[in-house]
Amino acid sequence: MIFSDLYINGKWVEGAGRHPVYDPSNGSVITEIAIAGEKEVDAAMNAAAAAFLTFAQIPSRQRGEMLRRAFEIMIAEADDLARLISRENGKVFADAKGEVLYAAEFFRWFSEEAVRIEGDFRTSPSGDKRIIVTNQPIGVSLLITPWNFPAAMATRKIGPAIAAGCTVIVKPAIETPLTTLAIADILHRAGVPAGVVNVITPTPAGPAVTRLLEDPRLKNLSFTGSTQVGKILLKQAADRVIRTSMELGGNAPFIVLDDADIDEAVSGAMIAKLRNGGAACTAANRFYVSKKVVAQFTEKLTAAMKEIKMASGLTEGAQLGACVSVKERNKIADLVTASIAQGADVKLGGKTPAGDGAFYPPTVLTVAADNEILKEEIFGPVAVIVTVESDEQAIALANDTEYGLISYIYSADLGRALKVAEAMESGMVAINRGVISDPAAPFGGYKQSGLGREGGFDGVHEFLEKKYIGAAF
Ligand code: ADP
Repeated sequence: MIFSDLYINGKWVEGAGRHPVYDPSNGSVITEIAIAGEKEVDAAMNAAAAAFLTFAQIPSRQRGEMLRRAFEIMIAEADDLARLISRENGKVFADAKGEVLYAAEFFRWFSEEAVRIEGDFRTSPSGDKRIIVTNQPIGVSLLITPWNFPAAMATRKIGPAIAAGCTVIVKPAIETPLTTLAIADILHRAGVPAGVVNVITPTPAGPAVTRLLEDPRLKNLSFTGSTQVGKILLKQAADRVIRTSMELGGNAPFIVLDDADIDEAVSGAMIAKLRNGGAACTAANRFYVSKKVVAQFTEKLTAAMKEIKMASGLTEGAQLGACVSVKERNKIADLVTASIAQGADVKLGGKTPAGDGAFYPPTVLTVAADNEILKEEIFGPVAVIVTVESDEQAIALANDTEYGLISYIYSADLGRALKVAEAMESGMVAINRGVISDPAAPFGGYKQSGLGREGGFDGVHEFLEKKYIGAAF
């Protein structure tokens, strides 16, 4: 069943109009979702604010059990949800299924965290006072999610919010709202009370989000999306000094040192580059490969990319699906065209296929270190390779960006890899692995890749306020 209305105060409600959701693999309309107008935005805020008064008080064990049930339902229905993701996002079924399992793990992890929200009781250094520190739910939170991981970005925010005792308004990307609405239904069946989770789909997003940020009842904003929109929201949040958690863009370097096992580096590169069709803020964007191994690495990566089967997401055996929209596909194509005009050497791909679907083929480019494409988050199946002379040059080039989300390093010498890892200006570093996202680990970036951490022990703290009670007795 496809849910296409708004989910407000535990009920499905119609909005102020309808908006089509497309299947990007063929341009057909899957369904038309309700558009949230001002009335629905206000209703969601009223519901979240009212529910917070009671939800924050219920035992954390109960909140944890709701999340546990949601985890179990999501796992039981993983194939259905994966098919829905594949249809509205374009990604292949295998990637969508992987996302559902990853997404469900956030519910499981935070079901376990709900009962472990710690406090602190200490004697002051002077010996005559007591320092009591407690954590309280921050309040109504606005969760804004992107289209690239419509399930995981939602559960990574909803999970800790429920664990902490917060109520939320979720605003998914207009391209992929159906997955979030399906997750709202799962939470409903898992026994999450009315008003705790509300899903609204306004379009355009800006005015509705501004309205919520101006409402004094809103206490927290958790955003995943582009650095450009993140900056706009940070400025708006400043007016009311709203707490923010920002997961923004990335421009991940993938460094292959001269002692790396090239076959392993290529398999890692295939995952780091092609998981989700390259539409991930963690996707390897710039390959800095040692002069000694660059020819071998390029040849093997090109051969592996050439074998990839590109087809619509639900086709048997498909490995690379459609981009989320023709607009996004054209952005990738424009970046590649500009890069070629600047001297990039095309080893594979680089041409937009004819037809209705938003497809872009696996592409390998070798470029000079000053090629403009290295400054952009490509968000597609395009590997850009640069030759480096030394570890020091690899480090300097890798860090020469305003982004700092994740870096990948391949080396046979763990000590050498760790030295490079310590020098990386990024919130996460993968050594000899093509993917490291894990609900039990803190996910987040340095520099303009964001503020705060999601997942791990930190995630729940994005939804908690620390209170210090000083007592003398
Ligand atoms: P992406 O490149 O991943 O689509 P965006 O930053 O454009 O990233 O979008 C991420 C989320 O932010 C989506 O839910 C989108 O609808 C929302 N969004 C986009 N523009 C604005 C805006 N001006 N104000 C508030 N939210 C926005």
